[in-house]
Amino acid sequence: MRLILLGAPGAGKGTQAEILSKTLSIPTISTGNILRAAMKEGTPVGLEAKAYVDAGKLVPDEVIIGIIKDRLAQPDCANGYILDGVPRTIPQAKAMEEMGVQVDCALSIEIEDETIIQRMSGRRICKDCGQPFHVVSNPPKKEGVCDLCGGELTVRKDDAPETVRARLETYHRDTEPLKDFYRERGKLRTADNQSTIEATTAEIKRVLGI
Ligand code: AMP
Repeated sequence: MRLILLGAPGAGKGTQAEILSKTLSIPTISTGNILRAAMKEGTPVGLEAKAYVDAGKLVPDEVIIGIIKDRLAQPDCANGYILDGVPRTIPQAKAMEEMGVQVDCALSIEIEDETIIQRMSGRRICKDCGQPFHVVSNPPKKEGVCDLCGGELTVRKDDAPETVRARLETYHRDTEPLKDFYRERGKLRTADNQSTIEATTAEIKRVLGI
């Protein structure tokens, strides 16, 4: 299964990608996580990306295309993958097609902007491994500590309310047109966000027929 997860920031792509990744035994590729790791390490890509990410803007397409080309060439992608947060623009989607990337499905998680703004305020992320949590809907076993690696949980800088609004605007302008792009190719499926993570997973599985 080669799956693209589409949806606004805060729609639950990262959380659902992790769940589906275990169910299907295929890796999740999150350009957001790759960029945050690069920023933390201070690599040239990380230094270039930082100003964009912190402001809630999209990193230039060439940077993302380079990242995705390298990542998809890794052996663990041979049996499929879940793309979380990429492509995010039509040029990225076209570049992926030109690379020969063939996806089975682009699944869009549908959610209202207002629900996202309320939800993002409770979002936490592990500083070390990037695992997402939520203080209400997906709390860690121990407050402030990652269940997976014991790392410290923090609020992402770009989850501040004004940055969330900027990211939503960017989503509607640059990313939402991808729904038509994949619809035209017969690949688009949509799943409505539900009130719990489990219910959303069930809805996604129903839509994908898995
Ligand atoms: P995410 O974790 O997917 O919400 O991504 C966090 C931030 O990383 C975004 O707000 C962008 O600044 C940047 N980013 C991640 N993926 C992409 C992409 N495919 N294209 C451009 N920017 C991206």
